[in-house]
Amino acid sequence: MYHDRIHLETLLAKAGCEPDPATGAVVSPPCLSTTFTRAPDGSYPHGYIYSRHDNPTRHQLEDTLARLEGGQACAAFASGMAAATALLQALEPGSHVLIPDDVYYGVRNLLENVFTSQGLHYSTADFTDLEAVQAALRPNTRLIWAETPSNPLLKITDLAGLAHLAREAEARLVVDSTWAPPPIQRPLDLGADLVLHSLTKYLSGHSDVMGGALIAREADDFFARIRMIQQTAGAVLDPFSAWLTLRGLRTLAVRLQRQCENARRLAAFLRDHPRVKRVYYPGLPEHPGHEIARRQMRDFGAMLSFEVDGDAAQALAVAARTRVFLRATSLGGTESLIEHRASIETPPTRTPPNLLRLSIGLEHVDDLLADLSQALED
Ligand SMILES: *Cc1c(COP(=O)(O)O)cnc(C)c1O
Repeated sequence: MYHDRIHLETLLAKAGCEPDPATGAVVSPPCLSTTFTRAPDGSYPHGYIYSRHDNPTRHQLEDTLARLEGGQACAAFASGMAAATALLQALEPGSHVLIPDDVYYGVRNLLENVFTSQGLHYSTADFTDLEAVQAALRPNTRLIWAETPSNPLLKITDLAGLAHLAREAEARLVVDSTWAPPPIQRPLDLGADLVLHSLTKYLSGHSDVMGGALIAREADDFFARIRMIQQTAGAVLDPFSAWLTLRGLRTLAVRLQRQCENARRLAAFLRDHPRVKRVYYPGLPEHPGHEIARRQMRDFGAMLSFEVDGDAAQALAVAARTRVFLRATSLGGTESLIEHRASIETPPTRTPPNLLRLSIGLEHVDDLLADLSQALED
């Protein structure tokens, strides 16, 4: 059961709706002011000083996201990667970070190209195998970075088991839950210490906002460091993006419900298609993570990948023929997207060259099925 007594659907439906005491407006207006007046005695009567430090609209979003994930605190950033950066900056130099072998490629790039030269160490492990994770832990492992379902192979990590390992190792567990936001998955309930979201994806939900957030189970000293980095380094979410994200959150539960339904139908269609070699979708009973996904998720998400029976050129040709699916990167919007992942990740990517990734949107499922069906014909 969730900590809030109300259901998450109710919390979401009213996101950003705190009637404005000055006007009675049902939807809180965005507060774009960068600065706030002092009282004659020099104090700040409303608690706000300057918008890099704190802003009413960003604050409203941070409170909403903290409640949504069941955490005590949240910090919102200018992008998902800015949130990831702040988290890594909060670690002591010399710390080791353990990441999955299948992980958002930007996270691996960030560790390799930015943080390795600034004193962090990292290595990878197969997070579907907790014994392999345990074996990869080092005495200086301070952060275990999970991503489930993972990008782009939809691997599922047992979060409760991983949280147990993290506690024994005295490392923090952060879960990049971008692909399965609430109400589908709540990592803090399963023992994670932090949740990371790219707000750019499902939470804002309309492919028109960039943002990121870190939500903490406890407002402890480590979170205070993250907050200090947010306010001092300044990669903050701007108030209008925060307002648009609150607007998107109001429909999150129904969007996800429809997107998951569509994804289930498409996964079954692709699995039975003669030109498809393999489908990666945790909702399929034969997916190796299916049982864990059933336990820790309320639904299986709306991302799926599949391998075309052929090479990279044949996979690209399938993507070239789609008319309803748009060829673009990113995910979580109302429109369905198709992407040849290996070519955006660039070498040394481990993604199979014949793999196409789908972000399933809100279109009528028959139109999506018909589109893939014609694209898979020669
Ligand atoms: C998109 C994405 C990110 C990065 O978020 P940005 O908002 O693009 O910076 C991180 N993790 C996952 C799983 C993502 O899909």
